[in-house]
Amino acid sequence: MHDTGSMENKKNKGITGKLLQFAHNSGLIRASYPLLSKSLTVLNYHRINDPSAAHFDSFKPNVSATPEMFAKQMEYLLRWFNVVSVSEVVQWLQGKIKLPDYPALITFDDGYLDNYTLAYPILKQYNFPAVIFLTSGHIGTDKAFYWDLAAYCFFHTSQDHILFPDNNEKSWETKEQKFTITNSWVESLKRLPDTEKQKWVNELPSRLKVSVPKNYFKNLMMSWDQIREMSQNGFEFGGHTVTHPILSRIPIEQAQQEIIESKSYIEKELGQALLSFAYPNGTKNDFNPEIQSLVANAGYKVAFTLLNGPTSLNEVKKSPYTIRRIFILHSHTLAHYSALVSPINRYRK
Ligand SMILES: [Zn+2]
Repeated sequence: MHDTGSMENKKNKGITGKLLQFAHNSGLIRASYPLLSKSLTVLNYHRINDPSAAHFDSFKPNVSATPEMFAKQMEYLLRWFNVVSVSEVVQWLQGKIKLPDYPALITFDDGYLDNYTLAYPILKQYNFPAVIFLTSGHIGTDKAFYWDLAAYCFFHTSQDHILFPDNNEKSWETKEQKFTITNSWVESLKRLPDTEKQKWVNELPSRLKVSVPKNYFKNLMMSWDQIREMSQNGFEFGGHTVTHPILSRIPIEQAQQEIIESKSYIEKELGQALLSFAYPNGTKNDFNPEIQSLVANAGYKVAFTLLNGPTSLNEVKKSPYTIRRIFILHSHTLAHYSALVSPINRYRK
């Protein structure tokens, strides 16, 4: 889960979209790619799905691409990059191997089922490895993340208004407005203290007069068997905490517990040591040097943020616990993708 990017939709059309298309078609964007030969380009995905499907009632901003667009993006990586695995990056850090020029790493956060059903078959076709950062307390359960539960309630309600934690009431008339309000409601909860957040989440179904069927979310996340199968076929897994809190917002002892417990639980299920970790939410206020040390002391060799853009290989060596990633969203066109993976993106706010 990451900051919602519904505004990206609008940005993509209009002038920016046309300029990007021109820069992409004319080869202008790719002209900057030689600068990437000694950088690690890390792609960040969450879900591969079709958020415009009529029945899609979970959180849309977590959809990174449709399967069709994901396949096009993999074709693009095949042409311009050399996809590597997390263990190759770690072995390179340990001085055991060299990385190819233009190395790229494919990552997924959270552990959604569509990583297995929709992304995995495409990645297999390309023979690309990928690493999936698992929220261990949700894997193999019917426990929904609060953003997916909220999206469900807003999708199925016949109410036209909702109270926000700041006591403002917001109402909607169109589906589009309801969707925007869903995202800002989820966003407004993100920074609340945990108990307060939980209270708002628990009250949401009754506020929106929706009842959530029992086990409704049982097919939202992957199962441990599916994860083991992927692991046997060259996929790698990393830690992403037990319950997905923003680590800088909880007491440090609790952050440590989240980091250590998820690691040992996943290692027990997989029967192998985890090398990599991704900070929940991952933006600059969501982790700090103290948390980075906890991750390092837990035995992780590398950790990933959601700070924008490629990271130079020198920087990866210097700071292996703050590797940047490029956040992919389902509204991105291929032109947008080619710009996002370019060095220019490093300097975008
Ligand atoms: Zn996440």
